[in-house]
Amino acid sequence: MRIVSLASGSSANSTLIESEHARVLIDAGLSRRQIVQRLTKIYGTNVRLDAILVTHEHQDHIAGLARTAKVLAAPIYATEGTLAALEPLLKNIEALDLRACVPRRAFEIGDLVIEPFRTSHDAAESCGFFIEERSLFAGLNKRVGLATDLGTVTKEVREYLEQCDFVLLESNHDVEMLLQGTYPEDLKARILSDMGHLSNDDCGKTLVYLAKQKRLRQALLMHLSQNNNRPKLALETARRFLNGAIEVAVAPRDRMSEVFTL
Ligand SMILES: [Zn+2]
Ligand SMILES: [Zn+2]
Repeated sequence: MRIVSLASGSSANSTLIESEHARVLIDAGLSRRQIVQRLTKIYGTNVRLDAILVTHEHQDHIAGLARTAKVLAAPIYATEGTLAALEPLLKNIEALDLRACVPRRAFEIGDLVIEPFRTSHDAAESCGFFIEERSLFAGLNKRVGLATDLGTVTKEVREYLEQCDFVLLESNHDVEMLLQGTYPEDLKARILSDMGHLSNDDCGKTLVYLAKQKRLRQALLMHLSQNNNRPKLALETARRFLNGAIEVAVAPRDRMSEVFTL
């Protein structure tokens, strides 16, 4: 299984997950041109996607969705609530293949088994994704979980992430930077709320819990705020909590991450 973040942060999000027999993109927050450009860097002329999975309807996750799905003829998977919220954006684009998925109900794309789980965020019906690559022996299956845009880590989120070998988890802001910063008070309150975004500390604490469950090997810190965080600070915070228990890296905002292989 290979994992690449094409972009991650409060302005654009898109992550590629590839198995032996399937390629899925989670979110399409870059423009269609940038997504195709970045996929071309990886695949050359053989750019195709088997699906685009959408976590929720916020602009930084869907800016290039309709056009990318159309040009690559890729079906779009999202929860009923997210699809309804996307309707005004998608209704003028012909021939899009929209498929509703249901939290906690698995579906298959090639050799991938995908299960959405609910996240706590101020969107219609946001979700994260648990993705398992089937191998010949079930015990060797690789599992990845992505959870970004969540104000708090619920029991349901933990339940899915603790089964994963690799986790992509939001590390949005440093609480002090946010409180001292120039955002209006109501926006600060929204970000800090249980329906907002996950702080560096909450991300670190969650990773410690997951590392204790013994399965997790590596984490990628995602969706960093441009104004209320720094990559170095997010990384140092996670490492301070983890004390070497697992490997951690940060997904860059405006360029592709390295390729992670499981
Ligand atoms: Zn976002
Ligand atoms: Zn969001």
